[in-house]
Amino acid sequence: MRDHTKFLKEASFVDGRWIPAHNGEVQEVVNPATLKVLGTVPHCGREETSQAIEAAHTTLPSWSSKTAKERASYLHRLANLIEEHTEALSHLLTLEQGKPIAEARGEVGMSAAYVRWFAEEAQRVYGDVIPSPWKGRKILVTKQAIGVVGAITPWNFPSSMIARKLAPALATGCTIVIKPATQTPYSGLAWGVLVELAGIPSGVVNIVTGSPPEIGATLTSDPRVKKITFTGSTPIGKLLAEQSAKTLKKVSMELGGNAPFIVFDDADVHRAVEGAIAAKFRNSGQTCVCTNRFLVQSGIHDVFVQKLSDAVAGLKVGNGLEAGVAQGPLIDGKAVAKIEEHIADAVSKGARVCVGGNRHALGGTFFEPTIIENVRPDALVASDETFGPLAPIFRFETEADAVRLANDTEYGLASYLYTQDLGRAFRMSDALEYGMVGINEGIITTEVAPFGGLKESGIGKEGSKYGIEDYLAVKYVCLGGLA
Ligand code: NAP
Repeated sequence: MRDHTKFLKEASFVDGRWIPAHNGEVQEVVNPATLKVLGTVPHCGREETSQAIEAAHTTLPSWSSKTAKERASYLHRLANLIEEHTEALSHLLTLEQGKPIAEARGEVGMSAAYVRWFAEEAQRVYGDVIPSPWKGRKILVTKQAIGVVGAITPWNFPSSMIARKLAPALATGCTIVIKPATQTPYSGLAWGVLVELAGIPSGVVNIVTGSPPEIGATLTSDPRVKKITFTGSTPIGKLLAEQSAKTLKKVSMELGGNAPFIVFDDADVHRAVEGAIAAKFRNSGQTCVCTNRFLVQSGIHDVFVQKLSDAVAGLKVGNGLEAGVAQGPLIDGKAVAKIEEHIADAVSKGARVCVGGNRHALGGTFFEPTIIENVRPDALVASDETFGPLAPIFRFETEADAVRLANDTEYGLASYLYTQDLGRAFRMSDALEYGMVGINEGIITTEVAPFGGLKESGIGKEGSKYGIEDYLAVKYVCLGGLA
């Protein structure tokens, strides 16, 4: 089914109903490739968010008391539907977000994979029986749904970032209120259509578009919401954690990154270039795990830069719906301004542009895939997440230098290193202060592994057996009088 219109909803989804904002206000959604308006969504605020929380709260007892097997079968149905409608959902995603259609298909596939993974994990939420220090008593540990979840997601992965939150929430018996990003709300609202098709009861999943501060403040201040899960920038993550502290909510934060991609002299250079393209230019460099800094050892530096430049020069830029396009537009004008600022700053400090460096001839928010070399450690790009198709290359001499440079950031999400020396691979993976380390691999995300950062890149994990824990409350039951 290729027709995306079935999934393009111009209303928020609350308690199983499609609703406008109470005051009728709307906000436009723009295709970043054509700059044409795709449609509108409601500009909701406190009122609609409170209604959604009420629906989630009211539905919680009936949903959480279903058996794990029942919830799993709903989730399997949801995963089947995503797979069945992959073409339509991917088309919608590219229209509002801009990424090449092949990448959109990959993202939608990941959404289905997360839902299926958590359908299975739902049935493995084991407790414990702890040996009792007292005669005649048993100590039991059970795990229960934490309660109503508030989820806020970004525009760069508008489908799969919701999957990672919605799936473990529903698996454990939680209900959820989701706020998708303003620039890509349709892939978020499409979850409402999928949830309806899967027959998931009204009120279990609610999706509200609109004012970020109003929806955020309502979710974080309402005592009925027991958990906030957020994916987005570090400053907004800190704000939401601060707001959530007043009612002591459990928080999960998937925040910004400043990923190093370290190439040692002994690396397989072809493999490193292949990994570099994937780790840097996927989604036009707009992923939290995208390489922000290439750290390249002196002995391999020139050959790596040359081969990477050749590969980058061959990347086709264009509308993500066109065949063969490897890089779509950036999300907006601010994103273009940021990459220009990073290039100008590095060049003013002595860097040289090897490839690209300019707005693309296509105009709009298209930007040339760019490589700059001879970048100094005090350049802005060394500390600030570019979130665009800019590959800055820093040179280093020793392994100790590589560790120092790589860890010289408050972020700690993904890191990559290329070496054929097994000892070095282990030394480096121990020394890197990052939640994820890719060794000789540029793409490492999978639903079976724990995704998440250290330091100011976040708190908590998504995916894997660890990803379900964040949605559970541990309860101790002491059973006495047995002797
Ligand atoms: P963002 O500005 O922090 O926005 C993320 C979400 O927060 C959006 O839904 C946004 O709403 C909302 N928001 C903004 N201000 C808010 C407020 N005051 N209260 C409540 N919600 C608010 O981040 P972004 O620019 O969309 O996304 C890029 C960032 O996300 C990057 O830093 C990237 O590294 C990070 N990211 C991290 C991961 C991870 O797993 N660690 C994954 C993907 C992205 P609006 O859209 O309506 O503004």
